Amino acid sequence: MHTLSIAELAAGLRARKFSARELAQTFLDRIAQHDGALNSFISVTAEQALVQADAADAALAAGTAAALTGIPLAQKDIFCTQGVRTSCGSKMLDSFVAPYNATIVDKLQAPSPQGAGMVMLGKANMDEFAMGSSNETSFYGPVKNPWDLERVPGGSSGGSVAAVAAGLAPVATATDTGGSIRQPASLTNLTGIKPTYGRVSRYGMIAFASSLDQAGVVARSAEDAAYVLQAMSGFDPRDSTSVDRPVDDYVAALNGSIKGLKIGLPKEYFAEGLDPGARTLIEAAIKQYEALGATVHDISLPSSPLSVPTYYVVAPAEASSNLARFDGVRYGHRAEGAKTLEELYKRSRGEGFGAEVQRRIMIGTYVLSHGYFDAYYLKAQKVRRLIYEDFKRAFETVDLVLGPTATGTAFKIGSKTDDPVAMYMNDIYTIAANLAGIPAMSLPCGFVDGLPVGMQLMGNFFSEARMLNAAHQYQLATDFHKQSPKGFK
Ligand code: GLN
Repeated sequence: MHTLSIAELAAGLRARKFSARELAQTFLDRIAQHDGALNSFISVTAEQALVQADAADAALAAGTAAALTGIPLAQKDIFCTQGVRTSCGSKMLDSFVAPYNATIVDKLQAPSPQGAGMVMLGKANMDEFAMGSSNETSFYGPVKNPWDLERVPGGSSGGSVAAVAAGLAPVATATDTGGSIRQPASLTNLTGIKPTYGRVSRYGMIAFASSLDQAGVVARSAEDAAYVLQAMSGFDPRDSTSVDRPVDDYVAALNGSIKGLKIGLPKEYFAEGLDPGARTLIEAAIKQYEALGATVHDISLPSSPLSVPTYYVVAPAEASSNLARFDGVRYGHRAEGAKTLEELYKRSRGEGFGAEVQRRIMIGTYVLSHGYFDAYYLKAQKVRRLIYEDFKRAFETVDLVLGPTATGTAFKIGSKTDDPVAMYMNDIYTIAANLAGIPAMSLPCGFVDGLPVGMQLMGNFFSEARMLNAAHQYQLATDFHKQSPKGFK
């Protein structure tokens, strides 16, 4: 059952080939069998999953089920889940039980017609407060890549991708502030989509950098991703940055022809720094797109080399402000025995936050401080505008932009932990989309030395349907995405 697509699972449930309870139990058994090696879950919610599955079976029997009713999923532990620990990968929130659900949790899990009726298996491991590219900053320990247990799965959504790649969940939610859906999808042979900023509600999603954070999906195919993104998307009056605009039919759009689709190849994304093996695979993917009737065009995104430095001013600035609420008084970890209020703040934050989070808070506080604000923060906002304008210009002539997702394949655990800048450079191809607010996705395009490589598609605002369509057409013509890691068949 763990190898079936979401459409096949939904059909199987409707045909009574298996019940939602049997389906949930199958995945819970796989988690029990394999997750010791992977560490992809922070919490497994077996009891609640079976309650939700029974409700799904009742809805299926009564004919009130929605398309995804009874399909299991993993939720990244950044989304508030009522009555269930929501840790965000941090000691700070180790004992935090959310008093309410994030909007996307309700949308995906509430019974139909309020929600999609999906069944939560548990909360996926992640980098602490979503800061990282390797899932090594989690308070709960590193996640292992199912393709090679000595390597990282990427981050920050490392638990989400490891669980799906190993067949411990059919699909998972994830979030992307600078690449945390796409880069881990690339490193684990999954399809991951970060929609347009404002397409999916951020209500109840623990904030890292509010102007960049966006929720999305990691799945085994563009088709699976389309189903789940459909159910997650839409206007939410509780999120002031949510966009009030109808959601396209992502599933219906999958089968359209891509003849005449104009694909732009930004020269900056094919410059030095890209692994030669990955480059060869991406060039083959471009040929495949031409064979499917797309046309390719050389373009330039001249400001893209500035995206990493811009991000590492904007994101820490917003993080330092968002994380100020964790003070040992209102939420989360509280140091014991503090004598003064100041000591309580200092010790609670010093004990509750890990090294990378503290580094970001310090950088953020510095760039926002009097005397440095204009030189760093304001300047970064101006460069951000230039990056957006690059894309605006590009989308006047092309429909999609294609390039690499990551600089290469998954690296060894521990190999970049002593060099934060080397770690930050992982996101050189992904960050620009967050700064511009446009949708972007990663999909598998082959293997180098047995390790997966992903390619990235970026589109204009609200072009998720077109991107998923282009990804699906490629996946109909190729079988890279169907490969799964040997130890987890
Ligand atoms: N790797 C980037 C960072 O560490 C992006 C993380 C993310 O997208 N959440 O900030």
